[in-house]
Amino acid sequence: MTTNHKHKAVFEAINLAYKQFDNIAIIIHVNPDGDAVGSALGLFHFLKKMKKNVSIIAPNDFPDFLSWMIASNEIIRYNRQTEKAVQIIENADLIFFLDFNDIDRVPKIDQHVKQSKAVKILIDHHPNPTDFVDIMLSEIEVSSTAELVCDLILNSNEKILLDKTIAECLFAGILTDTISFTVNSHRPRTFQIASELMIAGVDRDDVHDKIFNNFSEQRMRLLGHILNNRMNVMPGYKTAYLYLTKEDQKQYSFAMGDSEGFVNYPLSIKGIVFSAFFMEKNDHIKISFRSKGKNKINEIAVKYFDGGGHRNAAGGESKDSLEKTIDNFVKRIPELLKSNDIHV
Ligand code: 5GP
Ligand code: MN
Repeated sequence: MTTNHKHKAVFEAINLAYKQFDNIAIIIHVNPDGDAVGSALGLFHFLKKMKKNVSIIAPNDFPDFLSWMIASNEIIRYNRQTEKAVQIIENADLIFFLDFNDIDRVPKIDQHVKQSKAVKILIDHHPNPTDFVDIMLSEIEVSSTAELVCDLILNSNEKILLDKTIAECLFAGILTDTISFTVNSHRPRTFQIASELMIAGVDRDDVHDKIFNNFSEQRMRLLGHILNNRMNVMPGYKTAYLYLTKEDQKQYSFAMGDSEGFVNYPLSIKGIVFSAFFMEKNDHIKISFRSKGKNKINEIAVKYFDGGGHRNAAGGESKDSLEKTIDNFVKRIPELLKSNDIHV
């Protein structure tokens, strides 16, 4: 099985690092998704099997549909268990940063990280990582951070430790970021890794079900509402957007994670290659962007919406009203099209 040669040395450096230290922290990004939680728990279980004292810290809560992963209840949330999180960072000899490319993605935790003398390792697949670590395993072509963690394990002398528990968490990360192998999965290596995880015991259909078929009835009805009443399609611009007001969320008893995947729906309309989803929060608008194929959506997320992400999946936020934020986005569409060489 082939591994990218330029990674071999980085894999070796990381495998050497975790052998040297006992107190290890794994930090994941704010609003953790399935890849953040899955890659962190996969690494967590692996390090536990090596008898390491390891903890995972997240800035805030993650959606309920990820709580089936073994030990997800042990993830320390900085917003709820601040003191414990700080203590772990202070005691850590080694810190892993998983599934993000800039220290900004761990608000409030960043101050403690900056003071820490621990050896720092980034494992991530977002473009343009900033240099805040000692060892960087950053590869934007891979499907997910979970894929990279799996490759790290497969390239270690402890490959034998890869069991069903580790494999299920890593598989969950890959399924999340590839939407069950429908996007971001153009490399044969992704399937080789998936195959290794299945050999380790993963039931593919079961993990898919737990991630994608695990919502409430209310969430399904909210999806109906948003597609019927809150979607604007602009075929001339190859763009569509969706939004949800606070009132909508109240009406459908919105729970964290309920809007997962909404932004992808417009891309199934023929000719639509850009999609945006605006969600009204208490003090800001959370934005998700998606695009198809070679079309880049992350540049406008960075330039106008204080965000970032991948070529085809990015996000950002705005402090303006919902209406103004949407207006702002619509105004940027001509630039978006031009930068992608689309002439309408
Ligand atoms: P989602 O739309 O699922 O929240 O995020 C899609 C992608 O964009 C993820 O890879 C996520 O890391 C990135 N992303 C989402 N929101 C932000 C943000 O506010 N800032 C940055 N830098 N990246 C974001
Ligand atoms: Mn990811």
